[in-house]
Amino acid sequence: MSKLGNETAKVALGRATWKLLHTITLRYPETPSQDERDALDSYFHLLSRLYPCGECAAEFQQLLKRFPPQTSSRRTAALWLCHVHNQVNERLHKPIFDCAHLDATYDCGCGDSPVNSVSRSADAD
Ligand code: FAD
Repeated sequence: MSKLGNETAKVALGRATWKLLHTITLRYPETPSQDERDALDSYFHLLSRLYPCGECAAEFQQLLKRFPPQTSSRRTAALWLCHVHNQVNERLHKPIFDCAHLDATYDCGCGDSPVNSVSRSADAD
């Protein structure tokens, strides 16, 4: 693939990944259980090891060391991720995003049912 093709693919991958990550934190429970907190923490650490763009993964691992995932509530997690994304934006000379606009920007289209209702009802089975 040409250099331009590679860059276009990296940009598309980054954009899609950020969309997924922000949508996840904005659907994360308001008051998570310890298991849910551990799951979110693991998710980000595993992503930082497995992210397909190697240089991005290495930079993300460094960022997670400086700014460990904040998992105590939906708001905390969403604002933490917004801050981390802004750190990447700054390094790449992209505009800084106003984290007050998070809720209006990300809508998963999945209705009002809480994200943990599936795992909690499965636990009860
Ligand atoms: P993106 O940064 O992809 O953002 C997409 C949209 O999200 C924006 O248009 C805006 O509406 C919104 N947004 C922007 N900032 C925020 C924020 N702080 N909070 C919430 N929403 C926001 N690319 C590299 O070249 N080098 C790297 O080292 C690198 N590391 C990356 C690490 C990770 C974990 C990820 C997911 C991506 C990384 N990328 C990296 C890709 C890069 O961050 C961009 O995704 C890519 O360059 C496309 O940029 P974009 O201008 O479309 O906006």
